[in-house]
Amino acid sequence: MIAEDCLFCRILSGDIPAEIIHESDTAIAFRDINPQAPTHVLIIPRRHIATINDLEPGDEPVIGSLYLAAKQIAAEEGLAEDGYRVVMNCNEGAGQSVFHLHLHLLGGRRLDWPPG
Ligand code: 5GP
Ligand code: ZN
Repeated sequence: MIAEDCLFCRILSGDIPAEIIHESDTAIAFRDINPQAPTHVLIIPRRHIATINDLEPGDEPVIGSLYLAAKQIAAEEGLAEDGYRVVMNCNEGAGQSVFHLHLHLLGGRRLDWPPG
């Protein structure tokens, strides 16, 4: 399903340009327009899923593919040994601003914990 009013669906359809660095049958990844670390990549499912709350049984392969993409991209970006963070915000209270599921992959600098 493609949601016409969804920013990330429009990136998927090629409507809005993005620096896409990874593509598979289930997911794509592109660089965040407002990077919070030297590497800041967004990994999204091709299928429109708004939030974690909208996941259903059967979505396990899609979610798994986001993490396998993260592992591969982290290695390609030279982050695997030093470390990196993957995070998915759910709803506005946690900082979600685009309502198409996405995994943030952040690395290339020291990442403090807990996050703000
Ligand atoms: P959220 O706040 O929903 O967890 O993350 C959304 C992310 O999408 C933000 O980090 C924001 O910088 C990024 N973003 C918003 N609009 C665009 C865009 O048009 N292109 C790209 N590449 N990233 C975007
Ligand atoms: Zn979407």
